[in-house]
Amino acid sequence: MAPRKEITGSGSKSRILKFLLSNMGRVVNKDEIRRASGNASEWARRLRELRDEHGYQILSHKDRRELKPGQYILETDKRLPALPRSISKETRAWVLERNGYTCQMCGSAAGDADPFHPGQKIRLAMGHIIDKSKGGKDTPENLRAVCTNCNEGLQNTAPPKPDRIELLKQVRRATIEDQLHLLGWLETKFQKIRPGKK
Ligand SMILES: [Zn+2]
Repeated sequence: MAPRKEITGSGSKSRILKFLLSNMGRVVNKDEIRRASGNASEWARRLRELRDEHGYQILSHKDRRELKPGQYILETDKRLPALPRSISKETRAWVLERNGYTCQMCGSAAGDADPFHPGQKIRLAMGHIIDKSKGGKDTPENLRAVCTNCNEGLQNTAPPKPDRIELLKQVRRATIEDQLHLLGWLETKFQKIRPGKK
């Protein structure tokens, strides 16, 4: 178990925590949290850190059906032991770039509209190619980008990879605008993987 980090100072994180603790048991919304943080642009990240790194049980609509997106509740000041963060930020960034910020199971890209959660965007997580329970490691080679829907098993099957000829046919039939969009996406993807190669 990783030791829990203590929160000190008067930064946006401790301001959010103070606000949540003084409103324990009450549903609060994101505007209140942002205000409490001193209108910090990174208030959502700080909130996640309080939950993931400091163990505060801040519940959202993902935990409670009765909460709407943007609503949160802290029901207890009891903290869970923080989960050790075994995948470094660098590894995560590298894997995301290698995979072109695209889910390797269903092909959704970060920021696409989420078909399972109307009004939300696709978010990518780190998935293990060989599961950790089967001895898979947190190494870049064993990691791939998967969307949270595939990660949570909301989509049972990954569609088969498109056949090359069919794929090219589709691309040729697409509008020039879409072809250019694809070109831009490919350029960005391969620039990051193979810097210097033209
Ligand atoms: Zn997916």
